[in-house]
Amino acid sequence: MQIIENAVAGKRYVSSSTRRVPVFNPATGEQSAELPLSTLSELDAAVASAKKAQVAWGHTPPMKRARVLFKFKALLDQYADDIAREISKEHGKVHDDALGEVARGIDCVDFACGIPHLLKGEFSRNVGPNIDTYSDRQPLGVVAGITPFNFPAMVPMWMYPAAIACGNAFILKPSERDPSAPMLAWNLFMEAGLPEGILNIVHGDKEMVDGILDHPDIAAVSFVGSTPIAEYVYQRGTRAGKRVQALGGAKNHMIIMPDADLDQAADALMGAGYGSAGERCMAISVAVPVGKDTADALVAKLKPRVESLKIGPATDKDAEMGPVVTKMHRDKILSYIDKGEEQGAKLVVDGRGFTLQGYENGYYVGGTLFDNVEPHMDIYRDEIFGPVLSVVRRDSFKDAVDLIHGHEYANGTAIFTRDGDAARDFADRIEVGMVGINVPIPVPVAYHSFGGWKRSLFGDHSIYGPEGIHFYTRLKTVTTRWPAGIKGGAEFSFPSVK
Ligand code: NAD
Repeated sequence: MQIIENAVAGKRYVSSSTRRVPVFNPATGEQSAELPLSTLSELDAAVASAKKAQVAWGHTPPMKRARVLFKFKALLDQYADDIAREISKEHGKVHDDALGEVARGIDCVDFACGIPHLLKGEFSRNVGPNIDTYSDRQPLGVVAGITPFNFPAMVPMWMYPAAIACGNAFILKPSERDPSAPMLAWNLFMEAGLPEGILNIVHGDKEMVDGILDHPDIAAVSFVGSTPIAEYVYQRGTRAGKRVQALGGAKNHMIIMPDADLDQAADALMGAGYGSAGERCMAISVAVPVGKDTADALVAKLKPRVESLKIGPATDKDAEMGPVVTKMHRDKILSYIDKGEEQGAKLVVDGRGFTLQGYENGYYVGGTLFDNVEPHMDIYRDEIFGPVLSVVRRDSFKDAVDLIHGHEYANGTAIFTRDGDAARDFADRIEVGMVGINVPIPVPVAYHSFGGWKRSLFGDHSIYGPEGIHFYTRLKTVTTRWPAGIKGGAEFSFPSVK
């Protein structure tokens, strides 16, 4: 049985922990590895090595740091296929989807390669006689990232390339459900010439997360995961005096206006609702058609598409959707489908009972479609994180917007319409962090930043892009004066522009 190692101070080693959890291949239901849940003394050792290494790295010219990132990017391009296979093996997503994840992660490395330019400060000459002021962004020291299972390669890359480019050292605690992809990326970063101790991976569960949150030598924590844990991480981390950004869960709505191209909208919903088996924080899980005719026509178009979804393991090149991540998660999704039916939603396509020949023990859920879903139902209120799409019918644009505003989550949203006025008004007024106009999954590119509103993000900074650079640095403003000499003598009045 493969044992997943930690990576600290440039070396991989097996944790001495006696607490271990199995890692499964969701396509087959077989155990593929064992993951030791590292001890707090192993965390201490990782932080100590990071702290020591950071001093020199923080003083390394940004251009030299960028050169390591350029090499890392080239290696990621070369080994993208292998990383995608590692992702699929433990997460279950189909190969092309995993490759897409790697590509979006590489985009963040690409962005971080521009660090000399990104760290350029501001300079004002003659803020007073012979006085100049400049501001500069400096690294925080040792920072940490805690990541979810659904993008095991990409979400860590939302964090550590930017943090490291800024001159910090990084401690990563990946999801215990699919820990292998970040290990492969770590190998490549070391091969690219990253100094030992700058990127460290320590596996674990809640105990490790608490250790990170309480550690006096960790200055900042980036977290991505579910909302209850994000809120907890934010509160505990900030109480310990850390800078924290904690991105949480989602329930993303897509409004379909009566003038929308319904075939385009239905195709968009298929990808955004069922791609990656619905396990994306930017998945569309609620479709909101405006008007009865739009709703009837949309459901009629969706039903055959959902029924004919090609579900299979990542090794099946024709599969559009793989299994979900664990047996426990599959059972939770199935119980939501039961609840939806019990609470009166109309089950148009039932994904329960789906089995795949030859993969009977895999964690598959068939595509599921509910119509006539109402806001009080559990399938509407909760994030199911599975291949379950709910149709909530609304009579007007205003009602659809009000519906979105009533939900606790506000990560992403979309509108499908041909009307520029409705689209512009929606983008202007909707209280959601990321908005798509005829774009179903509006994940910002790497040189913008990603983040929801309300209970989808705790903290002041969105993640990656320019906001990421701000999160991983602190501002220093220096005011300088080089007097012509001391002939003027001392000044006792409060300095002001003369
Ligand atoms: P999760 O919250 O269960 O786990 C995330 C991380 O927190 C993991 O590293 C895990 O080990 C740790 N953790 C779990 N329970 C903990 C506890 N009680 N105390 C401390 N730490 C704990 O999330 P998940 O199931 O791995 O991922 C899916 C969730 O992540 C969904 O809610 C999804 O919407 C969200 N997500 C959000 C974004 C975003 O950008 N907003 C992106 C991806 C995923």
